[in-house]
Amino acid sequence: MNIGYLQRFSLIDYPGKISAIIFTQGCNFRCGYCHNPELVNPGLFSEPMAHADVFAFLEKRSDKLDAVVITGGEPTMHKALPAFAATIKDMGYLVKLDTNGTNPEILGEMISSRTIDYIAMDIKAPTEKYDEVVNAPVDKEAVVASMNMIMDSPVDYEFRTTLVQPLLVPEDIIRIGELIRGARQYVLQRFVPSKHVDADFITAKTFSDETIEDLKLRIEPLVERLVIR
Ligand code: SF4
Repeated sequence: MNIGYLQRFSLIDYPGKISAIIFTQGCNFRCGYCHNPELVNPGLFSEPMAHADVFAFLEKRSDKLDAVVITGGEPTMHKALPAFAATIKDMGYLVKLDTNGTNPEILGEMISSRTIDYIAMDIKAPTEKYDEVVNAPVDKEAVVASMNMIMDSPVDYEFRTTLVQPLLVPEDIIRIGELIRGARQYVLQRFVPSKHVDADFITAKTFSDETIEDLKLRIEPLVERLVIR
């Protein structure tokens, strides 16, 4: 499993916990608005960090940190992920996984072995628009299987969608809400321009406050908790 970098401290990436963040290299999507091109475009990959260095850091900080977030890139592209997460769990950490949901096999393995405590799954688009939004061919059945598996699991989770125009329109978000009807938590994230896989996204916009407020009213009845970020 190739680790691009390690963020040593975060107060915002694991709900209510102090965490470190491990960023894996490689992704099977090419979302133009992605703000981690150095983890997605192989031409920009840095020399991967040694796992031993990451584990040594986590051993040393176990009295100061509660949790470890594994994000990317797409962490489930790495077959070693479950064993890697299990090692971190054995140190006493909570583990959160950020995923695009394309690998329900690894997800299922980690859920049943309890090597994850929190899952954040991106839902990029309604199924019929997936390939267009992520700029790659997508196995939609795998994405839906992950969604259903997460909803049926005892693990804490959130689904989240980045509100980015012109890729998505408000009706797309309603369709996603219907797809995850009954979900424990759905997060709508405002798109914020920064560096992107597709540099043209620097001029893209998120939805207006009025549109987000309208979406809130329409989606709240579909899920247990709706969060706007
Ligand atoms: S935003 Fe898209 S391209 Fe970037 S890491 Fe996530 S799934 Fe991959």
